[in-house]
Amino acid sequence: MKIEVFPNGIYGAITYLVYDEESKEGAIVDCTCDIEEIEAFVQKENINLKYALITHGHFDHVYCLSDMKDKFVQTQILMNKNDLELMENMPIQCQMAGIEYMELPCVDGLVDENSHDLKLGEKEIKIIHTKGHSKGGLCFLIDNVLFSGDTLFQGSIGRCDLWGGSMEEIGESIKNKLFALDDEIVVYPGHGDKTTIGYEKKYNPYFGSNY
Ligand SMILES: [Zn+2]
Repeated sequence: MKIEVFPNGIYGAITYLVYDEESKEGAIVDCTCDIEEIEAFVQKENINLKYALITHGHFDHVYCLSDMKDKFVQTQILMNKNDLELMENMPIQCQMAGIEYMELPCVDGLVDENSHDLKLGEKEIKIIHTKGHSKGGLCFLIDNVLFSGDTLFQGSIGRCDLWGGSMEEIGESIKNKLFALDDEIVVYPGHGDKTTIGYEKKYNPYFGSNY
């Protein structure tokens, strides 16, 4: 699996492009940066962009989704049903953030932990439902790489004071689901630098040595 990082999203949110080198099947995780940048890379590497995997429905993670769908009509936008209401309240989110409202395309499919049919080449995209930052927050595990959205950051966790957020739930999601993964798994969060499960188990101040 190869990963290309597009770090210049709105509010510092990151778009990732993950793809299988052999089959050239790829997916973007969230969609928050200038779509021309992604398009140029996709064309250069001749990638078949199968999915747009949405970690959650906050404006900064879906800001360029409409532009993406205009360019990549076949790419399926997938998210969890519990965050559809966030997509519906996008005008309020944008107003609160002081940014212009953007139209959103329709979601093509709803996924959860029982969705086992998503693949890039031979590799399954495993879905982990991590509520707490939002109700429908998803992490995506592909090979030894985890895309953690705004659930787990390097040395921090996502905020819990927005719609559907819960400090208790995010703690449980991370402890029971993410920290159950192998220590070596590399974590690519929705904001900031990458990390590993092992590092966060040891040093994340929300868990740290108390874990
Ligand atoms: Zn968020």
